[in-house]
Amino acid sequence: MPLRALARVNLAAIERNVARLRGGLAPGAQMCAVVKADAYGHGAAPCARAALRGGASWLAVATAQEALALREAGIEAPLLVMGALSKEEVGVAVAARADIVAWDPAFLELVPPDRPVRVHVKLDTGMGRLGTRELGQALAVAERVMSRANLELAGAMTHFATSDEDLEFLEAQLAAFAPFVAQVRRQAPRALVHAANSAATLRVPASHFDLVRCGIAIYGCDPMHEDPGQHGLEPALELTSYVAAVKRARPGESAGYGRRFIAERETWIATVPIGYGDGVRRALTNNCDVLIGGRRYPLVGTVSMDNITVEVGSAGAVGVGETVTLIGGDRAERVSAEEVARRLGTINYEVVTALLPRVPRHHHRDGAPCDE
Ligand SMILES: *Cc1c(COP(=O)(O)O)cnc(C)c1O
Repeated sequence: MPLRALARVNLAAIERNVARLRGGLAPGAQMCAVVKADAYGHGAAPCARAALRGGASWLAVATAQEALALREAGIEAPLLVMGALSKEEVGVAVAARADIVAWDPAFLELVPPDRPVRVHVKLDTGMGRLGTRELGQALAVAERVMSRANLELAGAMTHFATSDEDLEFLEAQLAAFAPFVAQVRRQAPRALVHAANSAATLRVPASHFDLVRCGIAIYGCDPMHEDPGQHGLEPALELTSYVAAVKRARPGESAGYGRRFIAERETWIATVPIGYGDGVRRALTNNCDVLIGGRRYPLVGTVSMDNITVEVGSAGAVGVGETVTLIGGDRAERVSAEEVARRLGTINYEVVTALLPRVPRHHHRDGAPCDE
């Protein structure tokens, strides 16, 4: 029997995506696989291990808890917590032997003084989020890190605001980053310089420096929101459910809450037991296609918490028990995370990360079972 909702994640695709991205890196640059937010919904620990097999030498997460969870899963690779940290969270990150990011001298006072901690200093060159906009402050924090016995200046970093769109602004960010890079290279030649996310990794080799931080692309989604295949990337995630019931709808009969679909002529409706309680967003109401038997059918009516309804047209078009694909391929047809994102007016990142814990993740390697 098919499961009511299932996310199948192909770890072999992640390995190949990492290997492909790595093949395009500037000489000497390492790959850091970003596995924050449960690996963008794909399952953090198995995806982290797949990325390491594919040639990543670093992992990055957003939170201290995410770092701790990877260590508890037995993952020993170098690990960076990229997000802002409270005093308690710094303690968790340091206990997880993760590198942390700093840009404010006051923050360094929160770092436990009694154990070695590796610090990456962040210059805000235009993202306008974390990091300091002042080169002088970034350099002062770097110097303070170097002067403290238990701290090591492990990296100098920035983050791009427009790598998926405006490369002119990215070039300005690179120019603003350059004097910081030059100074850190002089003072701490072993510190890793890093800036690029997935889009910059694919588009701007001059942004690779010593390390690139790739998230979305390793999962086979297109950071430019178009076709991942253009970059040789393979989507790793497939979201499926199954046909639980098929029923006739006579003219005037409706499907779902609020009667947002009313049959104009006789048709047939399949009920599929997956909904917004699984992360299938309610804004897909009357607004997406699913695949059954290699054909596209429209979702009709309101997405409810546990079910959606699909118009299949005629009796016998689909059978109870058939697999329904909401994201992924079925024979020659495919519904991509990029397509769902366009329907929702959002980005592929949010579509895959929105999958909720109720959906089991089954990890496999090109269809073969694996024990992750
Ligand atoms: C999430 C994140 C990344 C990865 O971005 P992608 O576009 O998914 O490759 C890199 N750097 C930082 C600081 C991030 O927060």
